[in-house]
Amino acid sequence: MLLLVQRPDDVSEVQRALTALGVWSHVAHGQEATALVVEPFAAAVDAQALRSLPGVREVLLEASAHPRVDAQAGAVVRVGSVVIGGGRPLLVAGPCAVESAEQIASAAAMAREAGAGILRGGAFKPRTSPYSFAGHGREALLWLRRAADRHGLAVATEVMSEGEVSAVAEVADLIQIGSRSMQSFALLKAAGRAGKPVLLKRGMAARIEEWLLAAEHLLVAGAPAVIFCERGIVGFDSSTRNLLDLAAVALLKHVYRQPVVVDPSHAVGRRDLILPLAHAAVAAGADGIVVEAHPHAAAAHSDGPQALNAAELCALGRALALTPRASA
Ligand code: PEP
Ligand code: MN
Repeated sequence: MLLLVQRPDDVSEVQRALTALGVWSHVAHGQEATALVVEPFAAAVDAQALRSLPGVREVLLEASAHPRVDAQAGAVVRVGSVVIGGGRPLLVAGPCAVESAEQIASAAAMAREAGAGILRGGAFKPRTSPYSFAGHGREALLWLRRAADRHGLAVATEVMSEGEVSAVAEVADLIQIGSRSMQSFALLKAAGRAGKPVLLKRGMAARIEEWLLAAEHLLVAGAPAVIFCERGIVGFDSSTRNLLDLAAVALLKHVYRQPVVVDPSHAVGRRDLILPLAHAAVAAGADGIVVEAHPHAAAAHSDGPQALNAAELCALGRALALTPRASA
């Protein structure tokens, strides 16, 4: 952002006014005008407010690389019958994978009980090994939808390939793009064309700008809204599964004003640390929490160690003030 001043003498007064607003700048002398260059990591600034500072002639903004993302700033996103970004944190809960009709039915009851608004569960699972359980596919989508409907929950589920977009979009209220697919551009295009809101998980080694641009792909293709999901990035320390980047959450919420949720389950990889991380995520600005929960975590086909049981999920719901606290 560049501020052109009315007269060269105005520079120091304008710079002082900017500093008072917490905005850092440096002076650039051009041939025709003197300008103040606003430092990119200064406080979030409202160009309109800067235009009215005494001594400012013009405020020039660089063209954004992601205008459609910028345009959804401050948006409240409707997903089925729930909203994200309305002030009350939203809980999205369910197993890593939909394993059977019975398992997802129990998980849906657990989710409802905890105050969740959206049931999650993968029918198509991206797995590092080709020998691991990869989901029951289309059949599981039906189990998932039925279980959610029985409890008045919306559905979030992952799509992995372009060929499955229409089947997933038919049952999902929120189409999930997984971390490993964040930059599968053909998939983003196809998912955007489905016309449903998209939960865009951050690539495990993606820069924030790449994440924003992936969202732009979805919005260009026709997605009505994109909800960003921070799920941990690759770190150097294997003591936790990934490194939860809460700075990214704060940046997306407080600077870009985007709908953003946090998945502490995949970030930390162990159930005992999910509650404190959920608190931290909400404090950083998250509009919701995505967690894995399983009626029999010890027997889960995938991600058992990070799955919450019914009591733990309810405790999380209470912590997020979604359900009344049990009296002491
Ligand atoms: C998931 O949500 O089940 C999942 C596979 O997450 P991620 O894409 O973040 O690894
Ligand atoms: Mn998982």
